[in-house]
Amino acid sequence: MKIKTKLRLGLGVLFLMILALSLIAAGYIYALKEDTENILQDNYKTLDYSRSMFLAMDEIHAGPKAWTGFERNLKEQQLNVTEPGEGAVTRKIAGHYNALKKDTDNPQLPVLIRNDLAELTRINMEAIRAKSDKALATVRSAFIWIALTGTVCFLIALTLLINLPGNIGNPIRDLTESIQAIAAKKYAERLHFSGKDEFGELASSFNTMAEKLEEYNNSNLSQILIEKKRIEALINNMHEPVIGLDENKKILFANEEAVKISGIAATDLLGKSATELAEQNDLIRALIREKEGLHGSMGNPAAPSLKIYADDKESYFEKEIVDIMIVPTGERLKKCIGQVILLKNITPFKELDFAKTNFIATVSHELKTPIASIKMSLQLLESRQTGDLNEEQKQLMSSIKEDSDRLLKITGELLNMSQVETGNIQLNIQSSSPYAILKYAVEAVRTPLEQKQIELVVHADEQLADVKADMEKTAWVLINFLTNAVRYSQQEGRIHIQLTSTGEGVKFHVQDEGKGIDSRYRNKIFDRYFQVPGSSKTGTGLGLAISKEFIEAQGGRIGVNSEIGMGSTFYFELAKA
Ligand code: ADP
Repeated sequence: MKIKTKLRLGLGVLFLMILALSLIAAGYIYALKEDTENILQDNYKTLDYSRSMFLAMDEIHAGPKAWTGFERNLKEQQLNVTEPGEGAVTRKIAGHYNALKKDTDNPQLPVLIRNDLAELTRINMEAIRAKSDKALATVRSAFIWIALTGTVCFLIALTLLINLPGNIGNPIRDLTESIQAIAAKKYAERLHFSGKDEFGELASSFNTMAEKLEEYNNSNLSQILIEKKRIEALINNMHEPVIGLDENKKILFANEEAVKISGIAATDLLGKSATELAEQNDLIRALIREKEGLHGSMGNPAAPSLKIYADDKESYFEKEIVDIMIVPTGERLKKCIGQVILLKNITPFKELDFAKTNFIATVSHELKTPIASIKMSLQLLESRQTGDLNEEQKQLMSSIKEDSDRLLKITGELLNMSQVETGNIQLNIQSSSPYAILKYAVEAVRTPLEQKQIELVVHADEQLADVKADMEKTAWVLINFLTNAVRYSQQEGRIHIQLTSTGEGVKFHVQDEGKGIDSRYRNKIFDRYFQVPGSSKTGTGLGLAISKEFIEAQGGRIGVNSEIGMGSTFYFELAKA
């Protein structure tokens, strides 16, 4: 219970009890006043009248003066009849007195009058005793009630007297002692008020303060400086660039590597706002940019590498931004106090990658010539000039031809891929007829179509508007779509090829009735070297990746719609010329 409520409750009850005590006392005093006032008013006066009448009776024979005294007192008594029976006695006195007035010599009448007066006195004395008993009873009950309420008041006051000063004073004393302890640098001092009242809250705030002070006190300055130097040395000796920012993007530290690649002097870097520096420095801008929004060229969310020219050579780095989260002393919620930008030097990997690409490019280029000469020799062998071949030799020749075609396709794909990887796609974009591209591609796949006896259904308008395209590369993509469609179609199946105008461009569709592509792999088939598990292993997994690069390099769009068991529709769209 809050102290405020406790005080209100205690003092409120005490106030009510004192009020009750005062009302009870006042009530009883008023009752006593009523009782004693009646005795005086009703009975004392009657006794006085009857005494005067007694005295007047003694002098009744002295003359008319005594008569007047008696009559005056009798009249007063007749007006002051208050007790039961008093009226009858008074009337008797008046009767006997009137009779005596008429017969003054009657000796009986004075005796009767005196008896009457004695009776009147007795009635009033009894009334006085009854009233006195009543007053006594009132006094007794007043005593009981006043004592009872007084005791309750006393007990409450006593409880308050014993508890209240301690309840308020003790925590204040403890707090004072603890504050004095803190002032004397005893930071381990804590308050232990368990209640949920104001003192409980005070203790919790005090303890948080003491905890913080203790932490500050323990973090001795020289110790901190040593720690700082140690961490600085550690960061400086790292071979990878590291930059630390505070929550307002102010540069807190940058190791030697970071200073070297930034090209800014350390003094101009440290303590400066990275946002302001980014306005003039491209590298800092690239470093503090949180979300790159870029993805790997094949749709993979790959971390983009930064190409940095420093130390007279080109280096490649991968960036990582780490948020520094801490829980401040005495608090509960985590708070971000800055960021650390880490750069991983990936130059050796990049160099290996370049070497691989160059190697592939050279090898595939070098292989092209011997393969072409094999093909030429095959053609010569086929012609009659070189003599007839028997069936077995013809079969061998056809398998050599198939293999050399495959080899030529693979080397072509590898060469294209190396061009894509080095960013050397040479485009020859010109206004081209979609129908011409289609015709060229269809012509190229005629043999495999015939081999598998596949029907090719063409829905295309010859008059379709020209597109902005590199004829050769676009035909390559369409041929790749068609070869895949043939490869994944059943014997004697059907392939639809369609050209549609889409307003801004022309869309090429190749639809087959093959096994389709599982939704799990649909986004991956455009990745390099990816092949759907369980599909024919004769390819390289590069065809669709190169197609995507070729179409996107021409500003077009490529995609696939497919359901497993429902066939696939590959498409690309190019802008109208
Ligand atoms: P590959 O040289 O292996 O055909 P691609 O890049 O052309 O390489 O194709 C990648 C993968 O996509 C293939 O391994 C195949 O599983 C799948 N794929 C391509 N075209 C089709 C198609 N028409 N029907 C079913 N699967 C296909």
